[in-house]
Amino acid sequence: MDQYSRIEILDPLVAQRIAAGEVIERPASVLRELIDNAIDAGAQTITAEIIGGGIERITVIDDGYGIASEDLPLVCRSHATSKVRTLDDLYHLSSMGFRGEALYTISAVATLTIASKRADSEAATLRIDNGNQVEIIATGPQVGTKVDVEHLFASIPARKQFLKRPATELTMCRNVFIEKALAFPHITFRLYDEKSLRIDLPKATLHQRVLASLASDKRVTPSDMIELSEQGQRFSLRAITSSGSSVRTDRSRINIYVNKRPIEEYAFIQAVTYGYGSILPGGLFPYCYLFIEVDSELADFNIHPAKREVKLRNMAQIHQLIIAMLRTGLPSKVASVPLSPAKEQNEFTFAKSPPSYRPSSSSETTPIVSEKPTDELWFAKAKEILQNKAQPTAKPQKQELPDFTYHGQLFSLFLLVEKGNSLFIIDQHAAHERILYDQLKEEKGIQRLMVPLEFEVERSIDDFLLANSPQYANYGLELSRSGDLLWSLSTIPALFKPIEQQVIAFISSFASTDTAELEKRLYATIACHSAIKDGDIIDQHTAIALIEHVFTLEHPVCPHGRMFVVEITKEQLFSSVDRTLS
Ligand code: ADP
Ligand code: MG
Repeated sequence: MDQYSRIEILDPLVAQRIAAGEVIERPASVLRELIDNAIDAGAQTITAEIIGGGIERITVIDDGYGIASEDLPLVCRSHATSKVRTLDDLYHLSSMGFRGEALYTISAVATLTIASKRADSEAATLRIDNGNQVEIIATGPQVGTKVDVEHLFASIPARKQFLKRPATELTMCRNVFIEKALAFPHITFRLYDEKSLRIDLPKATLHQRVLASLASDKRVTPSDMIELSEQGQRFSLRAITSSGSSVRTDRSRINIYVNKRPIEEYAFIQAVTYGYGSILPGGLFPYCYLFIEVDSELADFNIHPAKREVKLRNMAQIHQLIIAMLRTGLPSKVASVPLSPAKEQNEFTFAKSPPSYRPSSSSETTPIVSEKPTDELWFAKAKEILQNKAQPTAKPQKQELPDFTYHGQLFSLFLLVEKGNSLFIIDQHAAHERILYDQLKEEKGIQRLMVPLEFEVERSIDDFLLANSPQYANYGLELSRSGDLLWSLSTIPALFKPIEQQVIAFISSFASTDTAELEKRLYATIACHSAIKDGDIIDQHTAIALIEHVFTLEHPVCPHGRMFVVEITKEQLFSSVDRTLS
């Protein structure tokens, strides 16, 4: 662009396409907007059909009250809406839509056909092709509305290149579909993929709808999902949530809705995990569908194009009540979470109160376990890693007595160790990270995967890997391209195996040709993911193995460069209470 360009008002078509980028990113966003419109039209049944991952075509049919034929040419105009009239309406929203922008923007980036019939008007069909009205004809459904969106982004290659393969886009459409269906259990939802019925959710109660959406998830026991509710001042809460055995290792099924809109609000996800507190072992998360209804005057959704964020004036009260509802409503013990074998339970020292060494022969094991069961996954992982470690460093395997005394764990993070004339306080997470980092650097032990792991990447990473995938081979990661945007990983160092998904996440996001940077970031990511976390309860053997290793280090600095050992000498301690060492 030359610097003497004058200011001009954008051509409406260009402006429309820019705006479209904010609301419509991919087929799933089109589907979301069309479902919202059907819901707002009072539909009893919503049927969607997805062809070619929605890139070829998305159709949504509803039996709602339809659009009058004379209004039809208006629906694809900017700010054309029947839902908001005055500024005040924005603060009393009861509809999903309110900006009058969705159809306008969709019609700018695809071919849009709307056929509709309103009880007091004739049926009509409108067709708009990438911003240009093609025709309006006097035919249409007997009732309700049918919207077809075809060839999304066909005229905008720059946007189309960000789309994934049809199968992946279809999955995203299904997720949006289920996400919407969860909030409106009184509506029947059906989704067809290439003519075959894939999701069939008949009208139900909220509880039944949640269970139906989880039907294919084998980790969920239906009887384990309980319903809790609570009334606050100008808001109410309702949760369908797991009470015990149905757990995950990620937070992806802590789903929060505010006034029936799914929102991404970390504070509420955190409130749910606080509410579960020590009921669930570290690293495990519940299935929790939480529906918050707030007085519409206290909620502002007009801050995010896709309405996935909300400003709430009574956020703190809601946060508190979520925690209280779960604390009082959930059974205090999660009996069926798998615990480690009984033999090993005797070895655990839980550092809630005792900073003193508890001998492994202690018989008082029951209160400890019910207090905070250890995370079996983590425990197995830590053991595996520490056992693996014993070999390459080729330390003599004979049982040497350590020259230090482990006094226990403090604040679920620090290990307290007495050695010589000093007290050492060790940050367990940082220490473990460093040890893993060292191991990763020295050990190779590359495994060939029986079934290569296939994963999909964005265009920019695809291009990067085409030129740079050999640099991963230096780290035991053999990559080959198995299709457009598709890569396979066929070898992996043994130590990375337990966290292969994180390794893939790393490869899918990293794009720098600086090999030193690659090595550092790769090792640090991996060490950080496998390391014992802050708050992880750590058993005697693991702690001692960790401490032994720490004392062999010359510079106890974690891969991110932080010091993680504090030494307090006996002398310092004595002088701090005005005593002198005799
Ligand atoms: P918004 O939903 O924010 O009002 P849209 O662009 O999504 O904006 O829709 C514009 C208008 O078109 C709506 O206000 C509504 O009057 C009408 N409309 C769209 N889809 C439907 C439908 N399925 N049934 C009835 N009316 C619809
Ligand atoms: Mg809308």
